[in-house]
Parts: sequence; C-alpha cells; structure tokens
Amino acid sequence: MNRSKLLLLLIIAVIVGIFLGFDGHKLLTLENLQSHQSAIGQWIDQNLVLAVTGYAVIYVVVTALSLPGATIMTLAGGAFFGNLYGLAAVSIASTVGASLAFLVARFLMRDTLRKRYAETVAKMDRGIEKDGAFYLATLRLVPVFPFFLINLAMGLTAMKLRTYALVSWIAMLPGTFVYVNAGTQLGQIQSTGDILSANLLLSFALLGLFPLIAKFVVGFIRRRKVYAGWQKPDHFDYNLLVIGGGSAGLVSAYIAAAVKAKVALIEKHKMGGDCLNTGCVPSKALIRSAKAADTLRHANRYGLEAVPVKGSFKNIMNRVKDVIAKVEPHDSPERYRKLGVDCISGEASFVSPWELEVKHHDGRTERLTARSIIVATGGKPAVPPIPGLNDMQPLTSDNLWELEEQPQRLLVLGGGPIGSELAHAFARLGCQVTQVEKGERLLAKEDADVSELVLKQFESDGIDVRLKHSAAEFRIEDGEKVAYCDYEGETIRIPFDQVLVAVGRAANTTGLNLERIGVDTLPNGTVPVEDDMSLRYPNVFACGDVAGPYQFTHAAAHQAWYAAVNGLFGQFKRFKVDYRVMPWVTFTSPEVARVGLSEAEAQEQGVAFEVTRYGLDDLDRAIAESEDHGFIKVLTPPGKDKILGAVVVGAHAGEILAEFTLAMKHGLGLNKILGTIHPYPTWNESAKYAAGEWKRAHAPEGILRLLEKLHGWRRGGKNTKALRSTYAPD
Ligand SMILES: Cc1cc2nc3c(=O)[nH]c(=O)nc-3n(C[C@H](O)[C@H](O)[C@H](O)COP(=O)(O)OP(=O)(O)OC[C@H]3O[C@@H](n4cnc5c(N)ncnc54)[C@H](O)[C@@H]3O)c2cc1C
Repeated sequence: MNRSKLLLLLIIAVIVGIFLGFDGHKLLTLENLQSHQSAIGQWIDQNLVLAVTGYAVIYVVVTALSLPGATIMTLAGGAFFGNLYGLAAVSIASTVGASLAFLVARFLMRDTLRKRYAETVAKMDRGIEKDGAFYLATLRLVPVFPFFLINLAMGLTAMKLRTYALVSWIAMLPGTFVYVNAGTQLGQIQSTGDILSANLLLSFALLGLFPLIAKFVVGFIRRRKVYAGWQKPDHFDYNLLVIGGGSAGLVSAYIAAAVKAKVALIEKHKMGGDCLNTGCVPSKALIRSAKAADTLRHANRYGLEAVPVKGSFKNIMNRVKDVIAKVEPHDSPERYRKLGVDCISGEASFVSPWELEVKHHDGRTERLTARSIIVATGGKPAVPPIPGLNDMQPLTSDNLWELEEQPQRLLVLGGGPIGSELAHAFARLGCQVTQVEKGERLLAKEDADVSELVLKQFESDGIDVRLKHSAAEFRIEDGEKVAYCDYEGETIRIPFDQVLVAVGRAANTTGLNLERIGVDTLPNGTVPVEDDMSLRYPNVFACGDVAGPYQFTHAAAHQAWYAAVNGLFGQFKRFKVDYRVMPWVTFTSPEVARVGLSEAEAQEQGVAFEVTRYGLDDLDRAIAESEDHGFIKVLTPPGKDKILGAVVVGAHAGEILAEFTLAMKHGLGLNKILGTIHPYPTWNESAKYAAGEWKRAHAPEGILRLLEKLHGWRRGGKNTKALRSTYAPD
C-alpha cells in the first residue's frame, strides 16, 4: 500500500475515532432526536445558515464514512427543515456523501483488485459499461439494499463518477422523500422500522423493477427503430441464409441443418473458402515439403548421409494441389447437400435485412428471404499502396498456389504469422529469401523471447531477415526488380525476382450492398458485431474473418456457432461469444503455439503473474528426435496454479498446447496436469514437466525441512549432511 493510501486510511480512522469517542452513534438515535426536538428547533430558528451548513457537513461525513446514523439524520432533515428544504438538503448531502464513499473505495481498493482478479474485474467493467446505470438505479430505488454497501461496491467498478452521482441522486429521491416526510411527523414515529410498511416496501420493489422494465422497453423501441422503413416479409424461403462457404459459413450452415432448419449457403467462388483453397491447407502442405527438404539436408543429424536437396518445384506444388483435392470433399457441395443444406453458387448482396439477391454465374438473378442472415464472406490479402508494387505482379496468399517456377530470390513483405510461415517454407525449399518487417521483431504479438528464437532459426536456415525495414518503393532497374526500404533514416536497396506480400488481411465486404441496410464497416474494414455476433439488426449476423478480431479457422467456426444459434433461436435466448480461451499456432520451425496471456499482455493489463519455464532441450523425446530446442512458458497468478497463459515454442508446439488449452477452458490448474499420467516418451510429457517446474518452485520448504529431520531421526538420528557428502561425486 502506498503512502497516500495509508494517509487516507489514517485520516478516516481519526474521524471515525472522534465520532465514536464523542459517542456520535449514541447521539444519533430516534429517542434523542424526539426528546431534543423543540430545543434544537429553537436553536435552528436563530442560527439558520449555520444549522443548514452544519447539518449538511455532518450528513456528508456520516454517509461518506458509512457511519451509523444516516436514517436519523434524514428524519431530522424533515423534522427541522420541512418537506421541500429537507428533501433538497438530504438528497444533495447524501449524493455528495455517497460519491465520496465511492471515490474512497475506488482509490483504496480498485487497483489491488484489478491486479489480483483482472479477468473478473474486466468482465464486471464490461457489464457496468453496458448496463451499470440500470443496475445502480435498481439498487438505489429499493431502500432495503444497504446504502453504504452500494457506495463501496460501485466504487470498485469502472463506473464514471458523473453517472454514479446523477443516477444515485435521481433514484434515491423517492426513498429520501418517504423518510423526510416521516421526519415532519417525528412525534408519531415509535421506531425507524415503522417508516416502511410492508405495502411501501412492495411499492419500492416494484419501483426497483422499473429500470429493468425500462431497459426492456428501450431495447424493444431500438429494435423497432432499426427496422423502421423496412417491410418484413410475411413468410420466408429459409430460416437461415448464409453468405460465404468458407470455415465460418460452412459451420453456420452445418449447425442449422443439424437442428433441422431450412438453410441455404451461397458461395461465389470455391466451397471451403480461404482455409481449404489458399490458406491453412496449401500452406501446411507446402510447409511439410519444406520440412522434408530440411530433414534431407540435415540427414547427418540422424546418422545418415546429408544429401543436396533436389526436387521439382512443380511436383511440390502439384502435391499441394493434391492435398487440397483430398480435403475438398469435407467441404464439398455434395456433402453439404446430403446434410440438408441448399448450396447455391453465386454472389449475394443485401436487398433488405431479410432478403438477398443472388447473382448466378450465368447472369441470372434470384431473390431469397430468410428470418436470419449470416455474413461469412471472409477476407483477402491486403496489398499496401507502395509506389511501384503493383508493377511487380506481387504474389499473395491468393495467387501463390498457381506458381509453377521456383523464385530464385524471393522478397517477403511482412513478419507476421503468414509471412513468416511462407518465408521459412520457401527458404527451406531452396529459395534465397529476404524477409522485410517494419517492426522491431518477427511475430510481434508474441513475447520477445519467442520472436528471438524464431529469428535465430530463420537466420540459421539462411533467411536474410531485415527488421525495422519499411518498403517504400519498387522499381525495375536494368531489367531487375528492386525494392527500396527505409531503415533508420537510410535507404536500403534489395534486388529480387519475386515479391510475396503478407502484410495483413482486409475483410471482404465489397459487393455485399451493406450500405443499403445501413451497415458501415469499422476503420480496419471488418463489420461491427455485437457480442451475440449480430450486426445492426438482431436478425443479421457476421462471423469469421469479415468480423474479426481473430482471423483463424477455429475462431471462425467458434463464432459461427453463436451466429447460427442466435440466428435460429435468438428470440428465446441469445448467447454471447466467449473468447477467453482462444489458442493459435504459427507453423514455423520452431512452431509457436499460444493460449491466454503473454507476459507483455499481462504487464499491459496490470495482471500479477509469475512465469514457469521448461526447456524442451531437457525432454527425452525431443533429444531422441534431435529436436531438443525451444521452451514452454506458463503464466500463473503468484502462488496459484491457475493457468493465465501458455506459450510453447518448439517442434509439435501446436499439439503440446492442446493440454494447456483444455486445462484453461475447464479451470484445471498445473497441479492437475502434474497429477495426470503421461505416456513416456511423448512430446506431451513436456506439459507435465512444466507443471513439475511450477511445483518445485512452490515446494513447502518448511515442511520439507521438518521431513528431512524426521527421516534423519527415523534412521537413528544420523547427521544427514554427513551422509549426503558420502554420496557426493568427487
Ligand atoms: C496463407 C494462410 C494460411 C493460414 N493458415 C491458417 C492456419 O494454419 N490456421 C488457422 O486457423 N487459420 C489459418 N489461416 C486463416 C484462415 O484461412 C481464415 O481465418 C479462415 O479461412 C476464415 O474463414 P471465413 O469463413 O471467415 O472466410 P473465407 O474462408 O475467406 O470464406 C469466405 C467465403 O465467402 C465467399 N464470398 C465472399 N463474398 C461473397 C458474396 N458476396 N457472395 C457469396 N460468397 C461470397 C468467398 O468466396 C469465400 O469462399 C490462414 C490464412 C492464410 C491466408
């Protein structure tokens, strides 16, 4: 606790001490008030200004410090100043006092709570940001909720002081009036319990429901407003229309068909979308060929003769195409039709929130209606407007797979996951790769130690990694393609044969006619979704790369479940998408796999954590496979085994990560991983060893010392240290 907090606590303690020392709590009783009413009344008549000021100050102190006596003070307000002035004085003083208590609680406690329970506090803050005013009004309107408790609890949230004071002031008025009014009849009150009859309490409870009813009505009006001007069809062709047959669209359609809804999937190009045709599948196939080349090149690691790698690039790319063809049936229209999905080939655009126009490839158009529509149109590689770049016929993840000749000198723009995976694969296949990244490191979303390890491997595989280089211009000089990059004030010239652009992805929204239904895109190009995945209209949803924020196949599938279920059953219950445990893998060598917080993120969010590391160079299986490099890093709250985040850097990292992901999702800590039998020798044993490292660091030293003594005593009291030295190696 810092000095200013200590000082504030000291001041509070002194004031409370004075209050109790002078028997303030005994003075502020109903009997005292009644027996001194006429004397106090006379004094007030002669010293009105002093009386009002003194009353307000005492009221503020009593409420701000949560001292007993606020009810009696409120009655006194009515008794001495009447209904109108009493109400004004009490409502202002109680709001000021409540706000001070709120600020004190915030100042003393919020930071500590945020550090300890970051996730819970963040969740609470999101709820408060959305509905805090409603919750507060409900609590304030029903006077049975303790006044001081509301002040302190709200102080721990992120609610703005202005909102807190205003809502408190308005919502406390009815209750304050009842007490002030009772104060004007002070003589007839036997106890403060008389003031609130059962009927009155019921009225307050109903009043308390008012904000919630108001919220429902506001939501209803908002929905009506959004649909104003649109004519909802009387009946629909489908329950669900899905635009886009990529990972997000396929899962949406699958779920709808599984629950027997009538669903159509509209795809303008190839079923399977990016993942199957230009993303995950071809890139992983290429990476496998590159890994095989690396194994051959370094066959001496395994006692074999290293051979110069010879191969046909065309054959490699044909293999990639074969792999796509083999996976294709999983996403084919035939399979989906069998599942009950109407697969329509064409380009869809919005006519209304319930209607789409589909342009078929033969030029025909048709209109289809549905109760709900899901936009799952994915994304495409972003090509930045760098002068001359377009004249280089740049490769992207979209057109790369048509390449027939291996580029000799390949320039890769981008040090993110896609750029790094492809740069590494091409380098291992024998290209001379230069990778340009304008940031300070590769894989910038990961911690610096992770980037460092990947960089080392890239350099040892011959990639010329240029960090802090920003591509500024492309030219053709004497028939040779040249990139000019800015690097710390200098201009660096890089000649190349082909350039591959992997500097980010842009959402696919053109042609959808989103403007017609009033949906704007965000500055990053994605569409703005609510936490139930709906767009502006409660029956129009988006998922996958077009919605972000993650651009992974499994994230698209995860979101698709919410979009489909909310689209079909949202009138009864809406589920909010949950991103708490979102794993991802970058398939470089070493692989980089992460779930939850990185160290940098934990620091940024003010989450207290400790780090446990386990080096994969220690793992028997890794040693047996000559892959003994990399590490596991697990973040846990200080002294606890709960997993806040884990990163695995090494061979099979994606597979190893699954265990941490499962544990995080189901609230299992490192002790549970440690207590699970892992077959020997497997890569996944490393998860158990990481848990073992954590356990060792948290061994109960005191108990172990006692045990050592106990064992010594059971051996007959021999000196354990002397024994140990007997076994010590020379
Ligand atoms: C090189 C590369 C490697 C990747 N590797 C991985 C990986 O290893 N793991 C991973 O999880 N993710 C990976 N990804 C990301 C992954 O491919 C995407 O996150 C995923 O494909 C997104 O799915 P989606 O359904 O949102 O979009 P998409 O797969 O892009 O599907 C959208 C579909 O909508 C169609 N469409 C668009 N507009 C219309 C319209 N108006 N009417 C009808 N149809 C339309 C498109 O033709 C497309 O088929 C990789 C991406 C790339 C580029």
